[in-house]
Amino acid sequence: MTQPEIDDDFLTLLAEDEPQRDRRAVRHWRILIIDDDDDVHQATEFALSNTPILNRPLMFLHAYSSTDAIELLKQEQDIAVILLDVVMESEDAGLRLVKSIRQELNIHESRIVLRTGQPGYAPEMDAIRDYDINDYKTKSELSRNRLYTTLTTAIRSYDQIHAINASRRGLGMIIRSSAELMARHGLQEFAAGVITQLAGLLRLAPEGIVCAHDKGEGAESTHIIAAAGSYARCIEEPLSSLGRPRVTNQINLAMEARQHQFSTDSTTLFFPSKTGRDMAAYIETTIPPDGLDFQLIEVFCTNITIGLENVLLFAQLKDLAYNDQLLSIPNRLSFVHSLSMVIADKRSEETLALVDIDHFSQLNDALGHSYGDTLLAAVATRLKQTLPADTVIARVDADTFGVLGKDSLVRPEILQAIFRTPFNLDNSDHQLSASIGLARLTEVEGDGSAALKCANIALSFAKAGPRGEFCYFARDMELHTRSRVRLLQDLRAAFERDRLFIVYQPQVTLSDRKVIGVEALLRWQNEKGQFIPPEQFIPLAESSGMIISLGEWVLRTACLSLRQFERSGVKDLRMAVNVSVTQFRHPMFIASVDAVLSESGINPHLLELEITESVAMLEYEFMLGMINQLKQRGVMVAIDDFGTGFSSLSYLERLNVDRLKIDGSFVSQMMQAQSSHRIVDTIVQLGHGLDLSVIAEGIETEEQALALAALGCDEGQGYLFAKPLEAEALVAFIAGN
Ligand code: C2E
Ligand code: MG
Ligand code: MG
Repeated sequence: MTQPEIDDDFLTLLAEDEPQRDRRAVRHWRILIIDDDDDVHQATEFALSNTPILNRPLMFLHAYSSTDAIELLKQEQDIAVILLDVVMESEDAGLRLVKSIRQELNIHESRIVLRTGQPGYAPEMDAIRDYDINDYKTKSELSRNRLYTTLTTAIRSYDQIHAINASRRGLGMIIRSSAELMARHGLQEFAAGVITQLAGLLRLAPEGIVCAHDKGEGAESTHIIAAAGSYARCIEEPLSSLGRPRVTNQINLAMEARQHQFSTDSTTLFFPSKTGRDMAAYIETTIPPDGLDFQLIEVFCTNITIGLENVLLFAQLKDLAYNDQLLSIPNRLSFVHSLSMVIADKRSEETLALVDIDHFSQLNDALGHSYGDTLLAAVATRLKQTLPADTVIARVDADTFGVLGKDSLVRPEILQAIFRTPFNLDNSDHQLSASIGLARLTEVEGDGSAALKCANIALSFAKAGPRGEFCYFARDMELHTRSRVRLLQDLRAAFERDRLFIVYQPQVTLSDRKVIGVEALLRWQNEKGQFIPPEQFIPLAESSGMIISLGEWVLRTACLSLRQFERSGVKDLRMAVNVSVTQFRHPMFIASVDAVLSESGINPHLLELEITESVAMLEYEFMLGMINQLKQRGVMVAIDDFGTGFSSLSYLERLNVDRLKIDGSFVSQMMQAQSSHRIVDTIVQLGHGLDLSVIAEGIETEEQALALAALGCDEGQGYLFAKPLEAEALVAFIAGN
């Protein structure tokens, strides 16, 4: 190759830095010659062939008329310089063509050099300005050196304009892709987007993978979290199983060096993460990225790293919002969501169960919260191990698990069986039980939270009986529950407005019918004047916890009344007050008894607390402690409704109570049914055998009273002697007696 003759212009050009294009594979500068004179084509090409400009060889395209040129420009792209003859078909054909190129074909990057044979045909200044014409030369000026200089200037300016435009397009893409990626919330989805956007930025087809590096407690591992093109099948596999050593190598290099890696056929970008999950994206590149690409990649990576932090943060927030942090299973919100999805899918053969651990709060209080946590974890593990993998298991409340799955699998027997084997906690076995509320989704109307409410209603029915029971939701339960809720509201209002009051039913000795005591019984007369039976509102007050304040009020009012009776001259009368299990369990119960005793100033021996037999037998150790504390204060204890529960005789002996109260149902039957008569007889014998006094309730006839007296029953209570009376009536009754 012969060196071109060197002139001044040429020297200046050489002194300037060459753009860093050398990384690209061979590419030409494309030069279009438009001229109606074939000699000009040949001379130009001849003068410049084998002469590289700015490190690239030239490639010539030829057109011989304006029409030719337009057709050609419609097909070809990336033309750096157009050498255009001004005078062709007409004197200004060249100028008109320039207008079409810029305005109609919208070609703005290509540089245009006008040439003319006659110096008189110089274009107007306006045309040079308006149509972005680079240069104007007469053909005689186009010596080899002049041509070289002219083209070099034009190519450099084309290259710069092209680079500016490419970087503007690239930055635009980065902004758009960042916005697009920010909208993605899952890491997988985000990573998949990174491949697409990166390939777009480098103008390549998406072929590659994105990996995340986990520094877990054990061995570190790198997983493929997104894959595109021929890699698509490798998603979610460990990188080591990819089977493409070159790819694996590049990614490992990037992760270790914490830097991008560029090779002849790939680009691997590294995205550091503050939260400890570094990411690397590998994409296949047929030509290595050039200087401009590098800059864009840097900007892209900065954006992606921020996006990645966002995604990880979002994942963390989502985890906090939807997962139970103690047990690492879905929480209530997530469970409601799953339920709503199943309902929306119209998957009807599914059942929802709420599994509530019995007496959890007592266990938690007694044995400590860390024990409670261990216990919950053990139950969660057992549920997961026993139920099929596609069952949803969630924690919906402190001690309540939600289970959602096929009707055939979510069944009470299966769930109860889970609790049959004791749980081994801290090296000792604990026997647990659970109450279960179930709802078939076919029985449920509404969304997930409505379904959960139904299962909760069923659960409250299951818990109404002894623990360990189950109950399926039925539609009429809801009505029942709704009316209970209304009744409870009314009860609260009645209590606040002093519409509750106490009546006192006399208790007499059966031998001489002397009034020795009274039982305080609560009454509620509503605004319409109707009496609501205690059997209806007491259980409601118990399950809602209202019984605590209500019961305390009854105790105080009864004791203050007793004081009043004493002032009216009625001495040594015993006051029996009913106490429910919820009151008994309350940690402040004994303290409230003490407060009432000191406030009323009554003799503690005159106060008798009635607890039902089933309650007394429920948690023996606890009851024993409570009864002993009451005895220390001199307060008496009677077992109410005796005969209806299942007393353990040895327990009864040790419980240290004062009196057994024979349930009214035996009394009412004793004259007709031999069995009732025998039961009454047995209770009297038993009571006396244990040194307890025995009282019979619900005595309505003289016959019953006589029969009871004949059996040795000490005391009696019932309509035969007196109905429950208001305070004043009672004082009058006793005076008359
Ligand atoms: P209980 O403690 O067994 O009360 C005896 C019930 O028998 C009372 O019903 C009383 O009115 C009724 N009775 C009395 N004599 C006769 C009779 O000759 N024939 C018939 N058929 N019944 C008679 P009451 O007042 O309706 O109370 C029902 C239950 O409500 C009580 O049964 C008790 O368990 C509960 N209760 C009432 N007041 C209170 C209270 O202040 N606190 C608590 N925890 N429970 C209460
Ligand atoms: Mg009673
Ligand atoms: Mg009773």
